[in-house]
Amino acid sequence: EKENREQQRLQSRLCRIKHKIIVLSGKGGVGKSMVAVNLAISLARSGKRVGVLDVDIHGPSIPTMLGLENEKLHGDGNDLLPISYGNLMVMSIGFVLNNHDEALIWRGPRKIAAIKQFLADVAWGDLDCLVVDSPPGTGDEVLSVCQLIDNLDGAILVTTPQKIAAIDVRKTVTFCRRLQVPILGVVENMNGFVCPKCGEITSILPEGEGRKIAQDMEIPFLGSIPIDPDIAWAGDRGSPFLEQFADSRTAEIMNRVVAPL
Ligand code: ADP
Repeated sequence: EKENREQQRLQSRLCRIKHKIIVLSGKGGVGKSMVAVNLAISLARSGKRVGVLDVDIHGPSIPTMLGLENEKLHGDGNDLLPISYGNLMVMSIGFVLNNHDEALIWRGPRKIAAIKQFLADVAWGDLDCLVVDSPPGTGDEVLSVCQLIDNLDGAILVTTPQKIAAIDVRKTVTFCRRLQVPILGVVENMNGFVCPKCGEITSILPEGEGRKIAQDMEIPFLGSIPIDPDIAWAGDRGSPFLEQFADSRTAEIMNRVVAPL
């Protein structure tokens, strides 16, 4: 009974959102949240009404990346109201899990229940586009997110260029196909290093696996983003890279990667 009501609440919210994109990765730490934030910024810049939803229950990093760690949540009855960042609407499960340092040690079903209630509670209103930063991997948590937010327009898969990470992309592709979530493409992050002095991009690690796997599995390859100290800096300072370093060469590359979306 309660579950049905929750599902209905969620449906009535989701039907007011025109497009829903989820950002997935086989592993943590590959730049999934970085891609989600900058994609949302780029979409919002084109005048669309955009929301970014962080459901990465074990490592919600969107509040830090947007400098919103200390924001207080506002509710209205059962509704959770998103926080504004410029013209971007932001909601993170990190706002709800109030103690930053306390590791989440809930068992599976409790986590899934928390995700479910969280999704049903956020009052987005009308949006053109919602960008979802999912938990990493292909476990129960991301499965629930993909099943609860049905009618996803598609998924963006983020990987690093090494074989070790790219193997997990295959799993993520299989996961999407099984759930019938269309794959919008693969982004290979941390391919090459941008010299902070001269701006030249040097290759430092084995690379190219992301592109190879995209070809093998017949999914679009959206492009590669280099390791750029300014990306890490922007993430830590809470000012999105595409805003802070809009004129840099890496920003140009990033804009090209997200342009088809
Ligand atoms: P995930 O969401 O996959 O766990 P994040 O997006 O949180 O990964 O990225 C992990 C860390 O690496 C963050 O501090 C982020 O700012 C940094 N980072 C991500 N991509 C790059 C990059 N291309 N160059 C430099 N730092 C990056």
